[in-house]
Amino acid sequence: MEATMSIFVTKSAMPDFDEYVEEIRGIWDSRHLTNMGPKHMELERLLAEKLDVPYVSLLTNGHLALEYTLQSFEFPYGSEVITTPFTFVSTTNSIIRSGLRPVFCDIALPDYTMDAKKIEALITEKTVAIMPVHVYGNICQVEEIERIASKYGLKVIYDAAHAFGESYKGKSVFRYGDASILSFHATKVFHTIEGGAICTSSKEMYDKIWHLKDFGINGPDHIDYAGGNGKMNEFCAAMGICNLRHIDANIAARKAVAECYRENLQGIPGIVLNRQYDDCAYNYAYYPVIFDGYKENRDEIFDKLKAHDINSRKYFYPLISALDYCKEYRGSGAENTPVSAYACDHVLCLPMYPELGLDDVKHICDIIKE
Ligand SMILES: *Cc1c(COP(=O)(O)O)cnc(C)c1O
Repeated sequence: MEATMSIFVTKSAMPDFDEYVEEIRGIWDSRHLTNMGPKHMELERLLAEKLDVPYVSLLTNGHLALEYTLQSFEFPYGSEVITTPFTFVSTTNSIIRSGLRPVFCDIALPDYTMDAKKIEALITEKTVAIMPVHVYGNICQVEEIERIASKYGLKVIYDAAHAFGESYKGKSVFRYGDASILSFHATKVFHTIEGGAICTSSKEMYDKIWHLKDFGINGPDHIDYAGGNGKMNEFCAAMGICNLRHIDANIAARKAVAECYRENLQGIPGIVLNRQYDDCAYNYAYYPVIFDGYKENRDEIFDKLKAHDINSRKYFYPLISALDYCKEYRGSGAENTPVSAYACDHVLCLPMYPELGLDDVKHICDIIKE
């Protein structure tokens, strides 16, 4: 079957127009448009419940959630944060923009997450934190990371932008580490148009973020920190409240897409599908595939799909640790993170969103196989 329209790599989930209009009606009456209004507070409460984590603080976007989290720890200028180069560039940039230095730790396959075996060798007296990424929704080696962090007294901040709603051994992924960051950008599994959150089990941290995201203001006559403006507005929070009603159906539809890809692509030499484990609950955020030793390489598959009006994504490419402005940091360069470099050159994310028809998935697989 030929697809009649172009297929995007992702497509934002939207509630019915009327549902959103109903949700924002009260904002017109109250004129409470932002500054931690009722929608903001309601969504924080709903998310804490949904994600099974004590505190959720809503921010304007996921990137600022990373920066505010780093700021809240008040690390000395120039301290080192061990992180992964196989991520969206926001992770690394948040560290640099906070006056800190990223140190690149390689990933391990088949999970694409930070290789916990390589962390300890990178720790120095300047190390203050580890910032791993639950990349593609693949859950990090959380227990091993926790062990290392407590041994060396380091903070753990998870970039959990891809991990909405996930759990490991029945426990919410947001209960690991000192904080986890979510992105609610329009392209993510759950979105608020633009938005993000900091999830933590610490009331003290939640309170500090509350002031930091509001210019550091603490009461009418007190300004305690050099805070910024990171507040999620009421219209974005209202979109989140609507989208949250449909998130379970959304994830179930993603799962059906993932299963259809697996049925059609598994067992083909040269094609490596993402591995998933029985003790994890996933959200099927992305569908990464490695092409290595297949009749066509990653870039050729990308071009072939493109010729059929199907958009896949070389996600993540290029390698962050090889970017010019990252050369000065420890662990930079493709030679120091060879597994990440390999993944960058061989992985392709296939279209993945809840409305993607299974006929379209089969069509995409047929093109890959033809
Ligand atoms: C999307 C994303 C971010 C940034 O989130 P925004 O909401 O777009 O600012 C950070 N890290 C990762 C891994 C992401 O995918």
